[in-house]
Amino acid sequence: MTATTKVNLLGLTQPQLEGFFESIGEKRFRAGQVMKWIHHFGVDDFEAMSNIGKALREKLRACAEIRGPEIVSQDISSDGTRKWVVRVASGSCVETVYIPQAGRGTLCVSSQAGCSLDCSFCSTGKQGFNSDLTAAEIIGQVWIANKSFGTVPAKIDRAVTNVVMMGMGEPLMNFDNVVAAMQIMMDDLGYGISKRKVTLSTSGVAPMIDELGKVIDVSLALSLHAPNDELRNRLVPINRKYPLAVVLDACRRYISRLGEKRVLTVEYTLLKDVNDQPEHAAQMIELLRDVPCKINLIPFNPFPFSGYERPSNNAIRRFQDLLHQAGHNVTVRTTRGDDIDAACGQLVGQVMDRTRRSERHIAVRQLGDEAAPSASAVNRT
Ligand code: SAH
Ligand code: SF4
Repeated sequence: MTATTKVNLLGLTQPQLEGFFESIGEKRFRAGQVMKWIHHFGVDDFEAMSNIGKALREKLRACAEIRGPEIVSQDISSDGTRKWVVRVASGSCVETVYIPQAGRGTLCVSSQAGCSLDCSFCSTGKQGFNSDLTAAEIIGQVWIANKSFGTVPAKIDRAVTNVVMMGMGEPLMNFDNVVAAMQIMMDDLGYGISKRKVTLSTSGVAPMIDELGKVIDVSLALSLHAPNDELRNRLVPINRKYPLAVVLDACRRYISRLGEKRVLTVEYTLLKDVNDQPEHAAQMIELLRDVPCKINLIPFNPFPFSGYERPSNNAIRRFQDLLHQAGHNVTVRTTRGDDIDAACGQLVGQVMDRTRRSERHIAVRQLGDEAAPSASAVNRT
């Protein structure tokens, strides 16, 4: 058996791993033992699995492997934020960011290399789509982050207490692999993270929100960014397919299924003079009137040639106050890891663009440079 045909055990959920052991003529309980070695102890070598006999270890070595994505670089910011660039099987690179906060550590995980949805203010979207990450490549990001805080094979200190699927890519466009990885995150044999502390963020792939509700119970975040369809069609093109009313209905259904006081997180990237005016706040209040939610405002994080600007602190505070006065719970996301380009929407990786969108984007830029209109005029039309 060649290396390429070995089964990668890193991305298998407990039932899948039980099935694997059965398929090689072994007992199902081996799955629990091996999962603990992989996820609790960060082990990638069957030899270190001391409660597994030599014969089985050899059998496993012949037909299986434990392989995370290759680490290309690891940066640590002055504020403790860590960023990894990892290479996935398609050859593209994606980014993972760890953000330490008092009493918790949040890992921002990527689900795709690039993204096909092309939101106008997102650098990942500007790179086009290359590939879906496998379940092993997704959970592998949690595995790598935790391992960086402990010594293998000693039991690893769980540095990652929260996971947000807010890195590169649209998680609902890579449904099966994202669901499997989130199941491992929540499994006690995996990372034992509670369902409230695993959050999937979506730009609004409405039918898949319903599918998600059928198979898993995690927290949901909707990237709203505009309070009316006309503006949202421009900022978040998937809105043309699933307009606000359809997406919000799906979110309401998802949240009501969860019961027990769970709420939707509404993410809203504030773009200067585009969606940050009092009229937008007023429309948002009306739109979210009957949606149990908390609102997270994300001041735009600039990247070259984006064509957008971050609003002033006063404008951000004014927007927050208006929502707050209407009774909303509103937070403003602070930028972390600025010195290592680890902020939301700045994750660039190194995507081999199958859609050739980045080439078109560059062409538009050059056209813009020659004709010398402002960058914003180029990108906002
Ligand atoms: N595809 C998913 C998750 C990844 S993006 C989604 O869109 O929800 C995570 C969040 O960062 C989203 O709310 C996204 O809109 C926001 N974002 C993207 N680019 C940004 C930028 N340049 N500045 C601030 N937030 C940005
Ligand atoms: Fe994709 Fe999310 Fe970026 Fe939109 S904001 S392009 S859905 S990663």
